[in-house]
Amino acid sequence: MKPGTANQYDVAIIGGGLVGASLACALAPLGLKIALVEAVPFRASSQPSYDDRTLALSASSCQILKGLGIWPLLEGNATPIREIHVCELDRPGRVVLTPGELGLDRFGHVVEARVFGAAVTGLLPDLENLDILCPASIVSLEPGKDAARIVLENDGEPEPLEARLVVAADGAQSFVRESLGIETERHDYQQTAVICNITPEQAHRGRAFECFTPSGPFAVMPHVSGRCGLIWCVHSDHAAALLDLPEQEFLCGARERFGDMLGDFVKSGRRSSYPLRLVRAREDIRPGVVILGNAAHAIHPVGAQGFNLGLRDVAVLAEVLYDEIFAGNERHIGSMEVLQRYSQWRAPDQQGTIAQTDGLARMFANPSPLAAAVRTAGLFAYALLPPLRRQLAVKAMGFRGDIPRLALGESLLAV
Ligand SMILES: Cc1cc2nc3c(=O)[nH]c(=O)nc-3n(C[C@H](O)[C@H](O)[C@H](O)COP(=O)(O)OP(=O)(O)OC[C@H]3O[C@@H](n4cnc5c(N)ncnc54)[C@H](O)[C@@H]3O)c2cc1C
Repeated sequence: MKPGTANQYDVAIIGGGLVGASLACALAPLGLKIALVEAVPFRASSQPSYDDRTLALSASSCQILKGLGIWPLLEGNATPIREIHVCELDRPGRVVLTPGELGLDRFGHVVEARVFGAAVTGLLPDLENLDILCPASIVSLEPGKDAARIVLENDGEPEPLEARLVVAADGAQSFVRESLGIETERHDYQQTAVICNITPEQAHRGRAFECFTPSGPFAVMPHVSGRCGLIWCVHSDHAAALLDLPEQEFLCGARERFGDMLGDFVKSGRRSSYPLRLVRAREDIRPGVVILGNAAHAIHPVGAQGFNLGLRDVAVLAEVLYDEIFAGNERHIGSMEVLQRYSQWRAPDQQGTIAQTDGLARMFANPSPLAAAVRTAGLFAYALLPPLRRQLAVKAMGFRGDIPRLALGESLLAV
C-alpha cells in the first residue's frame, strides 16, 4: 500500500478504548496504514475505558487476545474463573456451572480494565504502520467515494485526514454514529451499577457469583491478591446513597445481600457508578464506515458480555479485511460488499447476545409472581439438566455461530 501524504490512511480507528486499541493490534500485521484517534490520554485518571472495572473475559476472548499479542502482558494479573454460581435473591434454586462439564479447567479470566489499558497501550507504540493521535477528538466526518474526510481537533487546532475505512469504536455516545444520522434502539433500565474492589474473609477459589435481584445483578468476581470485583446494581434513585455509604455500612450491606459464601467482607476500594442503558445502532456499516464495540451495542453488564462481544467484532473485522487483502483487493476494504460480509457474519452473535442480556435484565426486574415462578423453574431446570448447563456454559465462553480464526486460537495470517 502506498498512501500519498502523511494524513492519508487506509484505516482510521476512532476511539482507543478497550475495543479500538484491540482492533489496532489486530490490524497492524496486515500492512495497512492505520490512525488510532483517542480523545483522552491513555494514562489519564479520566480515561473512561481503562478504569477500575473488573472485566470477565470469556475463553474465546482470551484466545483472541493471545492472537493479538496482548494476553502475555495480562496473564500475570488475570484470575481464572473456575466456577460460576447463579441464583436469585430470596428465591430457591442455584445453578453451579463448572468447566469440568466441558472437559476444561476454567471458563475464562478476570482482568481489571485499567490493567488491560496499561498492557494494550504499552504495546501500541511498537506497532508498525500505526499513528497514535491522542489526545485528539473527531469533530467532523464526511464520507466520500474512495475515502472519508475527517477533521480532528488537537489542542484546539483542526487536523484533517482521509481514510479508506473509518471504524467507529468511540463508545455508546459515538460521534461517528450520530454524525451519520444512524438511528439507535435505546432502553433505560433505570438501574445503576456501583462497582469496587472488595476483600472477603475467605478465599474466592476462582468462584464467580451472580445473584439476580429486582434492581439488577449483584455480582462478585474472583480477582488478584484475594480480592474480588463487586458489581452491585441498584435502582438509579438509590445509587448516590450507596456511593456515599461509610465503608463499614457498605461492607455490611454487601454481606447481607450476598450471604455467607465468602464470610464477611473486610475491606473495599474506591466506588464508582455506571447508569445502565441499552444503546444499539440500527445499522453497523455504511460505505467506508464500520461501527463496532459499544458504539454499535452498549449492553447491560448482566452476564459480563459487552467487551467480549466487542472483541469478537474485532476478530471478525480483522479476518474479513485480511482475506480481502490476501486476495489482492486492499483498495476495496471500505466497499459495501466487503463490509456486508462483516455485518452479516456478526449479526447472529450480536442479536443472540443482546437478546440474552436484555431479556435477563428485564425478566429479573419483572415483579409479577408468575414471572418469579418461571424464573425459579428455569433455575431448577439448569441446576438439574447437564445438557442445558453445557449449552449455557458454551455461550458464556463466547463460542456462538461461525467462530473467527483468532477465537479458535489460529493465526489470522494462516490461510
Ligand atoms: C459496570 C460494568 C461492568 C462491565 N463488566 C464487563 C465484563 O465483565 N466483561 C465484559 O466483556 N464487558 C463488561 N462491561 C462492558 C465493557 O466495559 C464495554 O463493552 C467496553 O468498555 C466497550 O469498549 P469500547 O472500546 O467499545 O467503548 P468505550 O470503553 O466506551 O471506549 C470508547 C473510547 O472512545 C473514546 N472516544 C469517545 N468519543 C471520542 C471522539 N469523539 N474522538 C476520539 N475518541 C473518542 C473514549 O475516550 C474511549 O476511550 C462492563 C460494563 C459496565 C458498565
